[in-house]
Amino acid sequence: MNDELILLKCGEISLKGLNRRRFESILLSNLRHRLRRVGSFSCQILQSTVTVSCLEQDPPEALLLGAPSLMDRAYDECLRVFGFVSAVRARGCPKELPLICELAAEYLREPLSRARTFKVESKRADKSFPYPSPQISAEVGAFVLSRFPHLKVDVHNPDFTVHVEVRDHLAFVHGDADPAAGGLPVSSSGRGTLMLSGGIDSPVAGYLMARRGLRVDAVHFHSFPYTGERARQKVEELARLVGRYAGDVDFFVVPFTHVQEVLRDTCSPEYFTILTRRFMVRITEAIALSRESGCLITGESLGQVASQTLEGLLATNCVAQRLPILRPLIGMDKEDIVAISRKIGTFETSIEPYEDCCALFSPKHPKTKPKLPELEREEAKLDVEGLVREAVEGTQLTLLRYGRD
Ligand code: ATP
Ligand code: MG
Repeated sequence: MNDELILLKCGEISLKGLNRRRFESILLSNLRHRLRRVGSFSCQILQSTVTVSCLEQDPPEALLLGAPSLMDRAYDECLRVFGFVSAVRARGCPKELPLICELAAEYLREPLSRARTFKVESKRADKSFPYPSPQISAEVGAFVLSRFPHLKVDVHNPDFTVHVEVRDHLAFVHGDADPAAGGLPVSSSGRGTLMLSGGIDSPVAGYLMARRGLRVDAVHFHSFPYTGERARQKVEELARLVGRYAGDVDFFVVPFTHVQEVLRDTCSPEYFTILTRRFMVRITEAIALSRESGCLITGESLGQVASQTLEGLLATNCVAQRLPILRPLIGMDKEDIVAISRKIGTFETSIEPYEDCCALFSPKHPKTKPKLPELEREEAKLDVEGLVREAVEGTQLTLLRYGRD
């Protein structure tokens, strides 16, 4: 048993009133699932804070080799679990002031030795604890000063802050917390079906919607042999990277060559791109409905390319008959999207130069303001339902299980 702990503060779910129990149980189950790949941990929730403790010792040979400890790895995982606003490593002791003082000086020895100024902030969640917060801070502060005489108190802009939390069972001591992943626990909002290309945008869209509590299925349209095996692998890798936050991702690859060839051979070239999009939406909706998914998700952003004008969006919206299309990037600039993509680690893979099927057969002058009657006239030349059915039937599913492959 390792005596260091991780404290995770719940975010929005603390506001969920009657639903809170349900959210907390999903959150804990996601966290436990996540930590199982690292080792044996116990996770308890109390007063909107989850305490994670490690139930095994680090193997001595791993420590000798300088490998990250079980706690280091668990902490890294915790920072990517949606539903927590902050995370910090801490140690606990019985709720007695002298013990709290000793613990602060001992556990935080290193940062306190490095700092020139410090302050103590205390919180008393257990109101039966006999000392009010300012008194706890004053006592711990005086003790720290006696042990680290080089330090000065600075309550406004300290180099280091000692935090003391007196909670129900124990008192905890720690430094400043790190921001955690935020959002709502994955699955608490249901399931969504992400249209995942190999570009920068759609992985970010998947991440953002997982952050709002959706479990994410990913659907990729692949036009073999025009788009090669490496292109498919790249998108699978992106789905895995999204899974570092979203957890398990079910990854669907739709054979799209026949649809695109039929469109190329039958329809007017200027409509090619938007008609392609309409087929993608129909096929994705059919897959989504078979999975009890409640929405489609795309990486579209208003005005970014010819098919993402208001008219283009209308043309794709109206073929989704039963599910809403969520477009979390709709109001974002490319540079904001790139910043998120770098932060979540998908950018480097997204910019690998493999063609997406959208670039295939694409016309020099795509229609930027397609009219619905014109699109419907073009589609009247095709067996739309048959093409959708054929594509859905040929779809291949790979279960990407986070941490297990
Ligand atoms: P991205 O960077 O995500 O590729 P983009 O700016 O290149 O987006 P488009 O190529 O116009 O935009 O695609 C718009 C959206 O359509 C994508 O964000 C994605 O959701 C979906 N999409 C495009 N191509 C595919 C594909 N091959 N498979 C699945 N979805 C796709
Ligand atoms: Mg694209």
